[in-house]
Amino acid sequence: MPDIRPTVGSGALVLNATYEPLCVVSVRRAAILVLSAKAVCVADGDGILHSARNSLPVPSVVRLTRFVRVPYRTHVGLSRRAIFARDGWRCAYCRGPAETIDHVFPRSRGGRHAWENVVAACARCNHTKGDKTPAELGWRLHALPAAPKGTAWRVLGHRAPDPRWADWLDLREPEAA
Ligand SMILES: [Zn+2]
Repeated sequence: MPDIRPTVGSGALVLNATYEPLCVVSVRRAAILVLSAKAVCVADGDGILHSARNSLPVPSVVRLTRFVRVPYRTHVGLSRRAIFARDGWRCAYCRGPAETIDHVFPRSRGGRHAWENVVAACARCNHTKGDKTPAELGWRLHALPAAPKGTAWRVLGHRAPDPRWADWLDLREPEAA
């Protein structure tokens, strides 16, 4: 194992040989993949990593040299982070910065905790909305909530993406309702 001291604590995005996003690993792990020729660096991060024999730029995105078969997962876990990521960290009602999760059809009235019924919301809209539906308030959802699709969710469901990864992750805004 090379003695690699990461200069930053951030992770590196790992792409399959087909450029499909796979996961996020530590910068150290990504560097080992590159040094052992299991991956090539496709985007540098900040700084230089030093080992006893090598030095290389901190990897921000690496691509595996051999294709790895990944079981296709259709279900994206309904985590708080995944909901914020799907909605672009913005309130579904006023488009301000989102801080809370709102159930469109209120849970107190039988609304489900499901992708189709949860949206990111700012504290003010969430508080004002209370136990009412958007229709009862005359509010309009910016986008119809739906379960996210695509391989980028292997990454987006777990952590905030590094801006340098945008080229490899599909970070478009949800379609307007
Ligand atoms: Zn709002």
